[in-house]
Amino acid sequence: TLPNTPIFRALQEHDPTSLAVVHSVSERSFTYGNLIGDVLRAKEQLEHKTTGKLAGERVAFLAENSYDYVVTLLAIFASDAIALPLSPSFPTGELQYILDNSEAKMLLATEKYADKAEQVLKAGLKREPLFDIRQKLRQGAGSESVQLENLKQPASGGMMLYTSGTTNRPKGVLIPDSALAAQASSLLKAWKYTPQDRLLHLLPLHHIHGVVNAIVTPLFAGSSIEFMYPFNPDQVWRRLAAPFTADNPKSKITFLTAVPTVYNRLMTSFATLPPDTQEAAKQGISPSNLRLNISGSAALPTPTKIKWTSLSNGNILLERFGMTEVGMAISCGLDPADRIDSSVGWPLPGVEARLVDTETNEVIPLDSKYASGREREGEIQLRGETIFHSYWGNEKATAESFVSSPDGGKPWFRTGDVATRRVVEGAGSGSSGQWATGPMYFIQGRKSVDIIKTGGEKVSALEVERELLSLPQIAEAAVVGLPSEQWGHKVAAVVVLSADAASSGRNGKTWGPMDMRRALKDRLASYKVPQVMKVLEAIPRNAMGKVNKKALVKEVFGV
Ligand code: ATP
Ligand code: MG
Repeated sequence: TLPNTPIFRALQEHDPTSLAVVHSVSERSFTYGNLIGDVLRAKEQLEHKTTGKLAGERVAFLAENSYDYVVTLLAIFASDAIALPLSPSFPTGELQYILDNSEAKMLLATEKYADKAEQVLKAGLKREPLFDIRQKLRQGAGSESVQLENLKQPASGGMMLYTSGTTNRPKGVLIPDSALAAQASSLLKAWKYTPQDRLLHLLPLHHIHGVVNAIVTPLFAGSSIEFMYPFNPDQVWRRLAAPFTADNPKSKITFLTAVPTVYNRLMTSFATLPPDTQEAAKQGISPSNLRLNISGSAALPTPTKIKWTSLSNGNILLERFGMTEVGMAISCGLDPADRIDSSVGWPLPGVEARLVDTETNEVIPLDSKYASGREREGEIQLRGETIFHSYWGNEKATAESFVSSPDGGKPWFRTGDVATRRVVEGAGSGSSGQWATGPMYFIQGRKSVDIIKTGGEKVSALEVERELLSLPQIAEAAVVGLPSEQWGHKVAAVVVLSADAASSGRNGKTWGPMDMRRALKDRLASYKVPQVMKVLEAIPRNAMGKVNKKALVKEVFGV
């Protein structure tokens, strides 16, 4: 039997004949009825192997983005265990680190990754998992729907995900069932997933964004999840261009969630498509078909947003801010008027947010401004049912991340991200919902790497990146601080030039640092203009499009 938890109750309520998971390329599809049956069988197999002692244990798994992934995830939830999805693209060493660090009891792998799993185990772990790998989890789909009966008590399971490791070694984040359900419930209210939605998912599934936005929440809503992986822009366009027929209305993609680099790569590949595919693809992403397109995980450059809007005939990317530790926390609204450039929107339903001065720890009042009239920035702190409880095996990091609430409420989580807040005229209080009201949040970057202190001033790397990206000569930009005797730190830009840069510099030369400084002179205060500019062929990014700035500084500047 399946446990009486919100996710399994929701699954039981959906039409068992409606599609839960679709494999984009092979077009294989699985209904909610199939899913419930297969999860029950997989759970029985898990418990058979382990004589039922899995509650609270970490069960790691290596699976491609597929129906099997979803069955495995849910079977682990149903066993009261803690699901730990691993990235198949990680090298052996990284997987070993995670297995050791999490003290996983079990490592499961689909057939495709059985060898990889064996390699990892062969290379030796500090502590052998108790159970065998290569469990065949699924006994073939197509089974009739199964009724849930004899519901058990609420489970003690949940999920464990590792942070992206952008600023340090990845940390294991323990997200209990209750927080997962709260995150899904918050997103259901804000983004209004429905059984009519078909969501196209292109990204890896070992991040909160994939697991919560593209699996758990759609399953709560009874939506269909379509997987296409690995990401191939041409294939995505061909899928989006596929003709929709009135008798098969569910075949159209209504919901797309990705990161800025994926939207950029899509638009680069668009230019190479045959004209008729282009036309059909444009139609596919127009607001009348694609209801919602979401961007997050890294700052969305405004030129990317504008290009997407014109390509899609009016679809405005909705930006949101999330973290492994908190799920999605701040988001723009469904109402197109509530998707303001460079803002991540308002705290989602059930999430409370505040800004705290990074030096004095003083809570910043709502409309507090500097003498210059600019809004004060501060670290975003969050609390609510959606927030994680602890870093696995790292009490010190856990303790340092929370601030107790004098009002006796839940403690505040320090995100390490800095933002400003501003009421935007014409945005909020509209059709997005009650939660989208008051000041909107604008991310300035991470306290540890993006807030650069130079000559007594603070510079937001994200603000400078935004200005650099608005120049036609620049295709990509990462702004960093370099140690400087004179300034403490100086602002430096690592950029990738666009085709426009070839002869647009002075006297027809290649556009260079002097041109950059001249172009930014009127857009940024002089202390914010990068003193150094380094040109690369490409800026190294991880699978989620994030730049590890500490590593970048070391690599490019050797410091
Ligand atoms: P680590 O914690 O290991 O250094 P990480 O913080 O990159 O890695 P994640 O939890 O995957 O790991 O990412 C969360 C971070 O991503 C946030 O703290 C924030 O810095 C960044 N982020 C997420 N969404 C946005 C956004 N819309 N704009 C700017 N930054 C964002
Ligand atoms: Mg982090």
